[in-house]
Amino acid sequence: MVLAKRVVILGDGSAGITFANKLRKVTVPGEIEITIIGNSQRHFYKADGLFVSFGLKNYRGSLKNSKFLLNGGVDYLRDEAEKINYEDRVVHLKSGKTFVYDYLIVATGNRLAPEEMPGYEGEAKHFFDLNKSMELKMALDTTSSGNVLIAQPKGPLQYSPSLVEFALLLNGHLEQRGIRDKVSITYTTPEENVSEVSAISSFAEEAFEKCNIEYATGFAPKSINSKNKEIVSENGDSKKYSLLVMPPPHRGQKFIEESGMAGDFGYMDVDKRRLNYGKFDDIFAIGDTANLPVVKTGSGAHYQATYLASRIAHEVVGGLYDFEYDGKLSLTTLAGIDKAFTVHSSYEKIPNTTIPNKSDFLLKYTSSDTYFSSLVRGVL
Ligand SMILES: Cc1cc2nc3c(=O)[nH]c(=O)nc-3n(C[C@H](O)[C@H](O)[C@H](O)COP(=O)(O)OP(=O)(O)OC[C@H]3O[C@@H](n4cnc5c(N)ncnc54)[C@H](O)[C@@H]3O)c2cc1C
Repeated sequence: MVLAKRVVILGDGSAGITFANKLRKVTVPGEIEITIIGNSQRHFYKADGLFVSFGLKNYRGSLKNSKFLLNGGVDYLRDEAEKINYEDRVVHLKSGKTFVYDYLIVATGNRLAPEEMPGYEGEAKHFFDLNKSMELKMALDTTSSGNVLIAQPKGPLQYSPSLVEFALLLNGHLEQRGIRDKVSITYTTPEENVSEVSAISSFAEEAFEKCNIEYATGFAPKSINSKNKEIVSENGDSKKYSLLVMPPPHRGQKFIEESGMAGDFGYMDVDKRRLNYGKFDDIFAIGDTANLPVVKTGSGAHYQATYLASRIAHEVVGGLYDFEYDGKLSLTTLAGIDKAFTVHSSYEKIPNTTIPNKSDFLLKYTSSDTYFSSLVRGVL
């Protein structure tokens, strides 16, 4: 009798669930046993954090129970990875349980690390999780004058263009409230350009100038002085604010470091096309956990999960086309309160044009529906 291969997935977010569902779609339990291990209380569709913070969407439609998103035939365990012992192919969990794997997929996303920025806690607002989006909404509702400073911390970020989106939504929101002339908006980034995506940069520079949004590149925040309402950069420059919107620095999960597997910023270094961790042919990282030369996006997580599910099914069962991850991303980015544009890119193709339009706005506004009904379920 041939034993089924054990595929263990760490992380019950976008990448982990999509991968599990895709692999189950093309294999049966007798061939591959799939276990997903995660510690999330609920699955929040993070792109909606922007809409929630401006009161443009109720959060209820953006939230699901993680188990509800898993297709039949995938085992789900509510637990937390504490260590990977790759010599013995074992994962140690917080509960004390251990799991032996044939294939290990690490998809544990980012750790938000406010402690890396002195003065951050209790001072900066952001929209990178649901509770924080709701807090930000309250702060925006009571803002009627002053300077909103939108700052990007140094290092990788989930969907970094979301800060450009926020600046343009804020501009529209203040115009609608008739107080745009009373509130100034400043945008800063540590990068050389306004966005790490060149097409978004060119668009944003023009839009910021048109909307009277001041911007500064090369500004790497080092600390926040809440008394002076001031953010200080690594080279000693400072910027004042009355409301500071800045996501916390992002890092990989601690267990990756404790397993001796952490690369830059605590994420895992993987082959950019095959997604293997280091020299291992049985350990992979997908989604935001992977150090890849692409923006950290749900869209990238989806394409990586698609490739890897196909590859593992092919290795175990055969019969599927074993392609590579080519760096594909689809970035639908808000260009204001009623327009958006989509940039499709890959390692080879980096487009530099954007055409803001209403249909892309609708696409983004309704993307949680598409995500919950088909994308994360592995249908598309
Ligand atoms: C404001 C905002 C806007 C965005 N907009 C877009 C957009 O428009 N388009 C787009 O494509 N992407 C967007 N993204 C990015 C997208 O949400 C992320 O790239 C995507 O969620 C990454 O998926 P992931 O599975 O790698 O990580 P996550 O979805 O964060 O999942 C990681 C999972 O791992 C679990 N976990 C953590 N530690 C452990 C552990 N030790 N053991 C077990 N489980 C663990 C967590 O609980 C979580 O469930 C946006 C993100 C934000 C914050």
